[in-house]
Amino acid sequence: MATASPVVPKPQIRQTECFIGGQWTPAKSGKTFATVNPASEEVIAEVAEGDAEDVDAAVKAARRAFEDSEWSRMDARDRGRLMHRLCDLIEEEAEELAALETLDNGKPIRDARAADLPLAIDCLRYYAGFADKIEGETIPVRGNYFTYTRQEPVGVVGQIIPWNFPILMVAWKWGPALAAGCTIVMKPAEQTPLTCLRLARLAQKAGFPDGVINIVPGYGPTAGAALVKHPDVDKIAFTGEHLTAQTIMQDASQTLKRLTFELGGKSPNIVLPDADLDAAVAGSHFGLFFNQGQCCCAGSRLFVHESIHDDFIDRLSALNTNRKLGNPLDPETEQGPQVDRNQFDKIMSFIERGKSEGATCLSGGSRHGDVGYFIEPTVFTNVEDEMAIAKDEIFGPVMSVLKFKDIDEVIERGNQTFYGLAAAVWTRDVAAAHRMADALRAGTVWVNCYDVFDAAAPFGGFKMSGQGRELGAKGLNAYLETKTVTVALD
Ligand code: ADP
Repeated sequence: MATASPVVPKPQIRQTECFIGGQWTPAKSGKTFATVNPASEEVIAEVAEGDAEDVDAAVKAARRAFEDSEWSRMDARDRGRLMHRLCDLIEEEAEELAALETLDNGKPIRDARAADLPLAIDCLRYYAGFADKIEGETIPVRGNYFTYTRQEPVGVVGQIIPWNFPILMVAWKWGPALAAGCTIVMKPAEQTPLTCLRLARLAQKAGFPDGVINIVPGYGPTAGAALVKHPDVDKIAFTGEHLTAQTIMQDASQTLKRLTFELGGKSPNIVLPDADLDAAVAGSHFGLFFNQGQCCCAGSRLFVHESIHDDFIDRLSALNTNRKLGNPLDPETEQGPQVDRNQFDKIMSFIERGKSEGATCLSGGSRHGDVGYFIEPTVFTNVEDEMAIAKDEIFGPVMSVLKFKDIDEVIERGNQTFYGLAAAVWTRDVAAAHRMADALRAGTVWVNCYDVFDAAAPFGGFKMSGQGRELGAKGLNAYLETKTVTVALD
């Protein structure tokens, strides 16, 4: 008989202070904020609440490090080696980091182990390999001149990340920035600061020079805004809500910072009548319920062709019947709590809107248990395009199923949103797949799969889902400035 794998013990909390210029320091104000375990609603730890003064100290440290020869003149191959050393340390501590991520965020430990950690390590190693392959061009120009370009680091970068994939977002942000030779001031999300701080400690152990990586935990409108407005920050890379990005764009306009944004979505996931139904059901379920539905690219508008709709729904509902919700540190758990009370309340109000606007709540629709921010996996059918649950980003375990009749119609309806992060198509018809990949206005289109990410494959949004791309060579470019050098040859 197989023995059940044991519940993972709570990890130790080691870092709770700001990390500035290689020093661990309390916030200058002395203030702290609580980070909460969303499964138990208990305070895990008090964390330094950074603000403008701390951000200013961190930016100064990052600027010094950027100009210091120890970093700026470091052999690019050594920069790559440092990044690999950081990955070695992350691998050694992967189990503890996964437990810390689960404790702070609420995601099931099985997901943290299977997805967050391996993807983060892969991303950092991918960019480590880029560090010594950043090349310029030679350009033929008129006259007796020699013209070439250099790709130089953009400088001090401010990185503001969300709470849904804290470790992975650190990797997506640090990877290209470090490979390019930038220095970093990062503000983790106030809900989930712990793994970012732990990773900073590992970077310190790996031997990154003081000031190359600085972390200021704190709130968005204070620490985050101070970073965006700081005149000595060259670029802001932000992942979060489009409304926050609008504020950031305004705040950054004074200093005309470079901006990259990865924002929300209401991604159409389209099942054509000839699809492999088992694969489409499993993929659509994963594409929405993974990470408690807290994914910017969640397939939250599921369009199913009317001829297969009822069969599809029966199979889909069956997947939720035995879904295991509960302690996310239990390796058997498939769904954990939402990250905090705000998200929980927001999602529950969307569920109420869905019911009151006339959609059919086929399964779920309520809180699970009475401690922790757990929500039953919820499926709405008979959803119409104009309902709030079909238009707004819910960011929770709530699936909206819509019927369609033909391809032209579903392309038009799929594109009827100001978002454009991702889309998916399930079909065995190769021509239909490519036609839809062409027609759907989204930064990523998955065909017969969902949520397939790779460090080498660019990710980002059309329309109000973002600006620029992360991952791949394009993600690296967002951290580089092109310098053109022209030399007179006579
Ligand atoms: P969410 O609603 O998913 O928390 P947000 O966009 O509010 O998404 O948050 C993402 C990140 O942006 C967090 O680190 C948050 O603290 C930060 N943030 C929020 N408001 C601002 C702001 N005005 N300026 C800079 N950063 C902000």
